[in-house]
Amino acid sequence: MALEDFRADAMRCTRCAYCKWIPFDHVKSWKYAKGCPSIEAGKFHSYSAGGRLVTALSLMDGRSTVTPAVEDSVFKCTMCGLCDVSCKLCRYDMEPLAAMSELRATLVEDGHVPAQVEPILKSLRTEFNMLQKPRAERGNWAKELGLKDLSKEQAEVVFHAGCRYSFDGDLGHVAKASVKILKQAGLDFGIMGENESCCGGRAHTMGHRKDMHTRATHNLTAWKKAGVKTIVTPCSDCYHAFKRLYASTEGSEIQVLHMVEIVDQLLKDGKLKLTKAVNKKVTYHDPCHLGRQGEPFVAWNGVEKKIFGQAVAYEPARPRYNGAFGIYEAPRNILKAIPGLQFVEMERIKESAWCCGSGGGCKETYPDFALSTANQRLDEAQSTGADAIVSACPWCERNFLDANQEGASKLEVLDIIALVEQAL
Ligand code: SF4
Ligand code: SF4
Repeated sequence: MALEDFRADAMRCTRCAYCKWIPFDHVKSWKYAKGCPSIEAGKFHSYSAGGRLVTALSLMDGRSTVTPAVEDSVFKCTMCGLCDVSCKLCRYDMEPLAAMSELRATLVEDGHVPAQVEPILKSLRTEFNMLQKPRAERGNWAKELGLKDLSKEQAEVVFHAGCRYSFDGDLGHVAKASVKILKQAGLDFGIMGENESCCGGRAHTMGHRKDMHTRATHNLTAWKKAGVKTIVTPCSDCYHAFKRLYASTEGSEIQVLHMVEIVDQLLKDGKLKLTKAVNKKVTYHDPCHLGRQGEPFVAWNGVEKKIFGQAVAYEPARPRYNGAFGIYEAPRNILKAIPGLQFVEMERIKESAWCCGSGGGCKETYPDFALSTANQRLDEAQSTGADAIVSACPWCERNFLDANQEGASKLEVLDIIALVEQAL
């Protein structure tokens, strides 16, 4: 697509500002009614979905040029998608998140790349990861585990750890816990080891679409060669990339499962038993890419029509991603099945969840913005009286851990799969 394809959205935006808030019927208090981390930090309309549609229109019409201020407003957004959910609750004919993604990609194509991103992109292109680590060390977490190496062997299921779980010393135990569970369930699976590559999803949300395409081609080719039919990952960013982005941009039809879906099913089937008590009070943070952006891709090749020259209609009906079918129940079912665990909800949950602050390249480009966004989530988590915040994404967990190091909270930051391992 091109930015021009979103001209109609930019024109239709009524500047209602609903995209700055969580859906009004989900609001439980004034304090936690806000939904957009970008406008919260930027304090100016252009740091919102509606504001970026105005910017896009102005750029398309040649009324503005890309100044440092425009770059800042375009890139200081976590691409969390809350605005998209809120907008679609009052509108059916708008795609603000897709429009912002296109605006960002357009700027990148024109050479507007934040300087902080350059070394990360170099690492992605040469070492196939975004953490600036040597490619040869990617499979180190799995040494001694005796797993099938699918760069040499065959299996229908590949376990994809992802960059963060592969290289982040504080989180690598989650990849090990995941394979322990998969082994216990008797699944025939393997890993790609040092031949595993970044999914490219973060590059895509940062506007670097060609980089995601290169990574996707690498991964899809390797999986095909190994006979892979299902990908299992504990990383929500990878999950979104494989499930939504590969399907929509690469035509991939491969099955994609997050570890929470596998564990939930194993518990339901009685193939996994959680017997040890974990005496903690926890709350759950829905990762954007597992929750509201975790809905499956639905291909659509219809046309837009106008009824009586005014009301917009689509033939056939256009898929409407409003977050309703994200992965919400599986993690909650798991937490409720852990003996001794007390589970409490925050106010902003599921499709209305406040972002952790790490997405869209903000962790790399705007670390202060990323941390202040995490602080606000940790404040909300603390208000529940929980001892720990649990999530299912290493990028959320890393950002919460970093915010805590700066004194944001005393909450323990836990991965849901690590918690399951404690209860085995
Ligand atoms: S993007 Fe949607 S919710 Fe935001 S101002 Fe425009 S119409 Fe309203
Ligand atoms: S994607 Fe998230 S941070 Fe960006 S404008 Fe939408 S709600 Fe705000």
